[in-house]
Formats: sequence, C-alpha cells, structure tokens
Amino acid sequence: MPLLEVRNMTHFFGGLRAVYNYNVTIEPGQIRGLIGPNGAGKSTVFNLITGIYTPTEGDILLEGQPIQGLRPDQISSRGLGRTFQNLRLWRHMTVLEHVMLARYSKLDYGLVGAFFGTAKRNREEARTRQIAMDLLKMMGIADQADQVVTNLPYGTQRRVELARALATAPRLLLLDEPTAGMNPGEALQMMEIIRQVHRELGLAIFLIEHRMKVVMDLCEIIQTLNFGEVIAEGTPEEIRNHPEVIDAYLGK
Ligand code: ADP
Ligand code: MG
Repeated sequence: MPLLEVRNMTHFFGGLRAVYNYNVTIEPGQIRGLIGPNGAGKSTVFNLITGIYTPTEGDILLEGQPIQGLRPDQISSRGLGRTFQNLRLWRHMTVLEHVMLARYSKLDYGLVGAFFGTAKRNREEARTRQIAMDLLKMMGIADQADQVVTNLPYGTQRRVELARALATAPRLLLLDEPTAGMNPGEALQMMEIIRQVHRELGLAIFLIEHRMKVVMDLCEIIQTLNFGEVIAEGTPEEIRNHPEVIDAYLGK
C-alpha cells in the first residue's frame, strides 16, 4: 500500500485556482521532489496534505485512510511531519526544549503525566531527552542544545526546525524549501543532513526546493508544478531535459 496517495485534488482560494487536479503517490521510504515557479501552488499542496486547508475537491489517503478534513495535529500524529517555508520557532526556548516539546505535545505525553507516578514520568522524560539529543547529534547541533534559538545563526535554526519535525518519528516528512535563505555552504550542509536523515531513519521525504542541485541530487522522482498543475513527472534526468519544464521554470 502506498504511504500517501493524493487523487484529483483541486483547491480554490476564492476565485483563484491554486491547485488543479493534482495527483501524487508516495511509497514508503521514497524521496521525491516538487519544483516550479513562485506561486505555482507548491506550498499549497503541502498545506492541503497537512490539513492547514481542506481541498475544494479530491481525496488524500495516508496509509489507505482518508485524512482530508482532519486537523493538522491529528494528521501529524498519524505519522506525517513537516517544516514550513518560513521559520516558525519559539524565540525564548532552547534548541533542546523545541525538540522535546514537539515530542511531548504530539505524542500526547500529557496523559503519561496524568496517569502514572513520578518514577515513570522521570523515565519518560529521560527517554524523550535521549531521543531529542540523538536527533540534535544527527543535525550536528548537539553542542548547542542549551542555546536559545534566537541567538543562533539562521542555518542552525533551520536544523532545529528539522529536528523538531523528526521528533515524533514521522513515516513521511514534508520539507518546504529547507535551504531557503541559506548561503551556499549552509545549503550543501543541509542537503547532506537530509540525505543522512533519509538513509538512517528510512522515512519517506517529499521536498519542495528551489536549488536544482539539491533536488536533482537527492530525489528519485520529481514533479513540476506550473499554475497549480503538474506539467511533468520523472527522474532528475527526465525533468532536466523536459521541454515544458525548461520553458516554465529552468530557463534556456
Ligand atoms: P508556491 O509555494 O509554489 O510559491 P503557493 O502555494 O504559496 O505557491 O501559492 C499558490 C497561489 O495561491 C499563489 O497565487 C498565492 O498567492 C495563492 N495563495 C496561497 N495561499 C493563499 C491564501 N491563504 N489565500 C489566498 N491565496 C493564496
Ligand atoms: Mg512556497
């Protein structure tokens, strides 16, 4: 069974048709890309899949179960993690607190606190801390666990965001322009981290990305969106040589 299946999804914002008859199938462990010009509808596709908006039409199935109409937190707790195009971090929290809080809140550990004694609660907290620290190690920022995020460079903040998205052990991770605003060095480091996350955690990744090197190097299959419609889908090689993609996006 596919991990995610989106069928004939259309979305209007008032009179604006942002996404039209969109289809995608993501298999477990697959790494896929979504590219296209600004305003093509890429972020809207992610916002529809993750429950920020409910599609005007179409079906979204996560492991065979319909998820359209569910709240974002419900979809997240079913195994779908994401990051946003613009950073959404808490200014006064530390790196470690971000990742631990994500795990607590999404996995509803409030219940653990309510029903079990102190010993169990302490064990859960130690385990959560361990998982969070392991993720920070994978991001290469474990030594900054106790820093407040606002004091950190932008590239590091984006790694915090990625660690937070991974804290609930999603089976599918949606990354919306993870290298946006980065300098070339930071972007290459982020690409290697994504590669490592994919290899070591074995989850599926769906990636919106502007940097062609990053998409072409990482993704097995790439879709190109233009005016809300898929105009091409294929391997990096096929996409690179696709006349319509070159016209709409890659340039001559
Ligand atoms: P991309 O991520 O490919 O740059 P978006 O999905 O952000 O594109 O936007 C697609 C289109 O939908 C754009 O024309 C954008 O202005 C419009 N749009 C996105 N979000 C909203 C919204 N919440 N309300 C109205 N229009 C929106
Ligand atoms: Mg976008």
